[in-house]
Amino acid sequence: AKEQGPAIYQFYLPQMNERAVARLKIETQLRGALARREFVLHYQPKASLINGEITGFEALLRWQHPAHGLVPPLQFISVLEDTGLIVAVGEWVVKTVCEQIREWQGQGLVLHPIAINLSARQFQQQDLDSIIGETLRATNIDPRLLEFELTESVLMKEAEMAANALQNLKAFGVQISMDDFGTGYSSLAYLKRFPLDVLKIDRAFIRDVTTDPDDATITVAMIKLAHSLGLKVVAEGVETRAQLEFLIRHGCDEMQGYYFSQPLPLEGASKVLMGGYRL
Ligand code: C2E
Ligand code: CA
Ligand code: CA
Ligand code: CA
Repeated sequence: AKEQGPAIYQFYLPQMNERAVARLKIETQLRGALARREFVLHYQPKASLINGEITGFEALLRWQHPAHGLVPPLQFISVLEDTGLIVAVGEWVVKTVCEQIREWQGQGLVLHPIAINLSARQFQQQDLDSIIGETLRATNIDPRLLEFELTESVLMKEAEMAANALQNLKAFGVQISMDDFGTGYSSLAYLKRFPLDVLKIDRAFIRDVTTDPDDATITVAMIKLAHSLGLKVVAEGVETRAQLEFLIRHGCDEMQGYYFSQPLPLEGASKVLMGGYRL
C-alpha cells in the first residue's frame, strides 16, 4: 500500500469525499423537494386531561418523496439544519400553517392553536420574528392560534438571539412552548429567563412512567415545577391508558401521543376539527 502514496490519499480523502458527495446529493434533493413542493405537514392533536377535548395540534414536517413515499423528519431535519435550508423550509412551515388556519377559519371551524417547531439555526436569522409577524399580518389570523416550540438546546446555542426574538414573538401574542423538557441542559435556569407559556415533558420520561419509580418521581416533579411557575404542562408520547391515568392523577394539563392520535394528514385533521373527536 505504501507505494501508492501517503495513506491520507488512499483512505482519508476518498472517505471524506464520499461523505461530502452523499451530503451534497441529499442537499440537492432537499432543495428540489422545496421547489417541487414535496414537503407536507401532518397535524397531531393534543387533548385536555380535564375534559378530554382537543386543545390544539402540533404541525410535523414530512417529505412526500416521489419514489420513497412519506419520509419522516428524523431522516432529513439534521441535513436541513446543517445546510441552512431549514431557514427556507421553516418559513414555508410558518406560511403553510398560517394559511391553513385561515382556510379552516373560512370553513367556519372552531379553531385551536397550532404549534410549529423551530430549530436553533432559525434563530441565527436576524429577521425570524419579523418574518413571522409579516406572515401573521398577511394572513390576518389571530396570533393566539399560533404556538412555537423550541428545545433547551435552542436557548443554549442561541441565547441572545432567542431571548430577543422570543420577546418580540410574545409581543405579537403567540404562545411559546419548551419542547422535550428534561432532556437538555440547565433546564431550570431557562424556565426563569425566557417568556414561556407551556412545558412539554419529553416522552423519554412518559414511556416508563408507570413502571419506573424514578421516571414517575421526575414526571410528578416536572408537573409541580411547571405549575408553580404558572406554565401549562403537556405530556408527550402517551401511548397507554395506564400512562394517561397516571398523568390525570398527578394533575398534568394536556396530553399528546398515539393513545389519542397519530399525526394526521390534512384531511384527517380537518375531520377532527369538524367535531366529535375526543379522548
Ligand atoms: P418533536 O417536536 O418532539 O415531535 C414529536 C414527535 O413524537 C413526532 O415525531 C411525533 O410523531 C412523535 N410522537 C407523537 N406521539 C408519539 C407517541 O405516542 N409515541 C411515539 N413513540 N412517538 C410519538 P416526528 O413527526 O417524526 O418528528 C420528529 C422530530 O422532528 C420532532 O420531534 C421535531 O424535533 C422535528 N420536526 C418535525 N417537524 C419539524 C419542523 O417543521 N421544523 C423543525 N425545525 N423540526 C421539526
Ligand atoms: Ca415539538
Ligand atoms: Ca417533543
Ligand atoms: Ca424531539
